[in-house]
Amino acid sequence: MLFFTHLAAAALLARTSRLSTVWLVVGAAGPDAVDKPLAMAGVFELYHSVGHSALSLLVFVPVALYGRVGVAAGVGWASHLLLDTVHVVVNGRPGHAFSLLWPLLESTDPLAIPPGEFVRYYVGTPSFYLEAVVWIALIAVLLTRRR
Ligand SMILES: [Zn+2]
Repeated sequence: MLFFTHLAAAALLARTSRLSTVWLVVGAAGPDAVDKPLAMAGVFELYHSVGHSALSLLVFVPVALYGRVGVAAGVGWASHLLLDTVHVVVNGRPGHAFSLLWPLLESTDPLAIPPGEFVRYYVGTPSFYLEAVVWIALIAVLLTRRR
């Protein structure tokens, strides 16, 4: 999914939970904030590696023990992984979900294109329209006042 959609989804999640909006959004930004620079620097070949691994969630277990900030960041991070997995499955590349177990397993059908090029590839795919639903839901929630 597109980076800003992860942030929007985290904001939506904040509206339906008692978790911190800021830390949900920070957590949702995490996987891309970690993996994109690593791939662009040539550390890893693919844009889904350590940050997109479900094993990265283990970091949040001890952090969550210190309070709701860690829980919110971990839930935000997990939401990113879940939405990226939905995205690759909806777009017909389920083998890419194996990157959730990086470094134990790797994607069998990686895209391996940089973020800017990804946007051009992605617009108009089935997952792109699914993202539009996330944005419509966010706008609807934001237009609805809490009482
Ligand atoms: Zn991602």
